[in-house]
Amino acid sequence: MISQRSVVACVALMVLLAACSGTSFAQRTASQPAVIPSPKSVLGFTPGDDRTIAGWSQITDYFERLDRASDRVLVQTLGQSTLKRPVIVAFISARENILALPKYKEIQQQLADPRKVTSGLQRDRLLANGKVVVTISCSIHSTEIVASQMSMQLAYELATAQDPETRAILQNTILLLIPSPNPDGVDIVANWYRKTLGTPYEGKEPPELYHHYAGHDDNRDWFMLNLKETQLITRLLWHEWFPEIVYDVHQQGTNGSRLFIPPFYDPPNPNIAPLLLRQVGLIGHKVAADLQAAGFEGVLTNALYDTWWHGGFRTAPYFHNSIGILSEAASAHLMTPLTVTTEQLARSSTRGMRNAIEATTNFPDPWPAGEWHPRDIMAMEMISSHSILEMASKFRSEYLRNFYELGRTSIESSNKGEPQAYLIPAGQARDEAVAKLIGSLIDQGVEVFRLDRELHAILATPVVRRTNPVAEKVGSYRRLASLTSSSMQEVPAGSYIIFLAQPQRTNVLALFEPQIYPNRLTAQGEAERPYDVAGWTLPLQMNVEAPAVVAIKELPSERKLTLLKDANEVRADLALPLKKGDESPIKNPLKQPVRVGIYKGSMGNMDEGWTRYVFDTFNVPYSSVRDADMRKGSLNAKFDALILPSQAATQIVSGNAAGTFPPEYTGGMTDAGVKNLKEFVSNGGMLICFDNACDLAIKEFNLPLRNVLEGVRSSDFYCPGSVVALDVDNKNPIAATLPASVPAYFISSSAFATATADANVRVVARYAKENVLLSGWLLGEDKLRGQIALAEVGVGKGRIILFGFRPQHRGQTWGTLPFIWNALSSAGATSTEE
Ligand SMILES: [Zn+2]
Repeated sequence: MISQRSVVACVALMVLLAACSGTSFAQRTASQPAVIPSPKSVLGFTPGDDRTIAGWSQITDYFERLDRASDRVLVQTLGQSTLKRPVIVAFISARENILALPKYKEIQQQLADPRKVTSGLQRDRLLANGKVVVTISCSIHSTEIVASQMSMQLAYELATAQDPETRAILQNTILLLIPSPNPDGVDIVANWYRKTLGTPYEGKEPPELYHHYAGHDDNRDWFMLNLKETQLITRLLWHEWFPEIVYDVHQQGTNGSRLFIPPFYDPPNPNIAPLLLRQVGLIGHKVAADLQAAGFEGVLTNALYDTWWHGGFRTAPYFHNSIGILSEAASAHLMTPLTVTTEQLARSSTRGMRNAIEATTNFPDPWPAGEWHPRDIMAMEMISSHSILEMASKFRSEYLRNFYELGRTSIESSNKGEPQAYLIPAGQARDEAVAKLIGSLIDQGVEVFRLDRELHAILATPVVRRTNPVAEKVGSYRRLASLTSSSMQEVPAGSYIIFLAQPQRTNVLALFEPQIYPNRLTAQGEAERPYDVAGWTLPLQMNVEAPAVVAIKELPSERKLTLLKDANEVRADLALPLKKGDESPIKNPLKQPVRVGIYKGSMGNMDEGWTRYVFDTFNVPYSSVRDADMRKGSLNAKFDALILPSQAATQIVSGNAAGTFPPEYTGGMTDAGVKNLKEFVSNGGMLICFDNACDLAIKEFNLPLRNVLEGVRSSDFYCPGSVVALDVDNKNPIAATLPASVPAYFISSSAFATATADANVRVVARYAKENVLLSGWLLGEDKLRGQIALAEVGVGKGRIILFGFRPQHRGQTWGTLPFIWNALSSAGATSTEE
């Protein structure tokens, strides 16, 4: 039986399919000056068709043709991706706006920094003349492939449509359409998909990282800016164009809601302006209502995804006074359709959605199960894009004004007693970390000044102190950090200062303050998992001293400040080699050449990718070691040290199960690899294990240690992505260059204890005896206090180094990288320390 709703849906879909067929709009318009090629005429298929996929050169080729044929489209190459593919953006707007892009860019730059606006008249002129700048970014996660295909159809429609609504959109907005911020990944997925099409592996995700270093974490890099792609797009967005609205198009799993759209779930980040959260909700509901009106079922709001974390494509905008929108469509199997059953929907459960079959206020129209095609995903993403553009167009002046006003509030002085600035004092002897920290800040548009003469100020260290038990109980989202202040002191010349009175005030706060994640528990008393990490405070992760400044003695004119333009100015100050071109200027920190192997299993492992990233950045040579190499053996002939990045022991040993992937991608290092690893260590090799990989070493080598957190319930202990304090034995050569207390990154990580004292076990660092949590969320601190965080165990003639935490997490934890360099520097030399 066909319900009336399905008829509406079918009609809406037919209209949409007609629009997607590559003929309707173009043929309907007699006044179109040039023949604008449809995606189908160029690709030979309509984007979104089952079992078709356009790779990156096809996508860029299409956009080049569109640029040539349409005066509404201008394509710009921003630079090259990690693997040297062009990263592009298409500006789409009315012809007269495209011709005047420099003027509109200038308006955006003034609205973004109200200090450039000196009169009410000037402000009103900007608000009257400006266009709402909207960014739509597709498929940063490359297996969420449909949006990258959709981008061509969206651009084509906007380039050809003549209806009054679209014309108004083109008049009032400037769209920055990014077909994908990860071009390498589009090709990794497209090549894999074509290779496996028609085989039993059709539609499976590729067994490798879809970003050379970061894989899925390419969307966790938007404040650290480690990756080329992130750097290029951050420059476009937050140095040049300052979009009022950023829409990041994603896909989720196959069995839940058909599409998630904001409002988001709790908790919100306390530094996000409430006005932004409201505007996010307003746009989200507009999208949801338009989808409903078009007959689409299964749209979910207020669930799963939250705004707590920083560093995502759609979360970073909040800290630039902009609106960040996320959509998450249910996935197909890449471009292959699938069938979802009612039973699967009934089992799909997440925060804010008990299952995917029951109607609730935030999920009023469950989808009734059935076939699910890439075309369904694309149709919903097209409607979402149009809805957002329509909102931007209809409320043009409101969006511009709100954006300007948020910037204006940000440049006001802080209240008395609250931080006025953050300081990076000179003379920290952590020069590379200081240069990287300041470089990342400047690259995302934060103003950093050098003090050219000393300054007298009251400094304070923000600490995590949960002082409000009532607020705690209800999971207050207010900031609970308190300041321990001192008296007026002299800050030496050559220090760096970041004032909060700048348009990016909330970004500075979000990066420098400790995060205090509310204690959120499920009805059963288990920890409710945050969407991403709970804490990330950047100076802590990098072990750079960065106290808050609560008062300054000198008048502004007496401060003698220089605004920094780039990281090279800091590098010059600190007598570090300057960065030229793309090469990392950092000197290899190892004391002597060491033959390092980094284990790369048969499946993509982000921790492995970030390990390579860190080694490449520090110019430390290494080889990737595959399962076949491990099985072959004779490892001592090739390596002095082997690193196992964090990965479950079963994955390392067994890899992908037979039959799940083509044979060359199945099977792990196997027992033969483990045997060779044992031989390697007992012959004098150094084995370094990160976090989960310690499991393999402890069990296979029968080490006299156990992970005290194994099997612990989340009601007793929980710590999801937080910064914790270590007490360090810096008499041990592995910790020789480090202070007695070091912040480390803990992400559901490990903590060890020994059954009995054992002369072969040397403890390098323990989790602190008290006040373990520095930023984030830690339930059950007693489980962690004083336990072993980093140990060195002698085995035969060799050594195993066990990192319970993540010393190189996402390429952000520069504070704990020295442990790795020190360990490697001693590889080959047997420690004599007792
Ligand atoms: Zn995604």
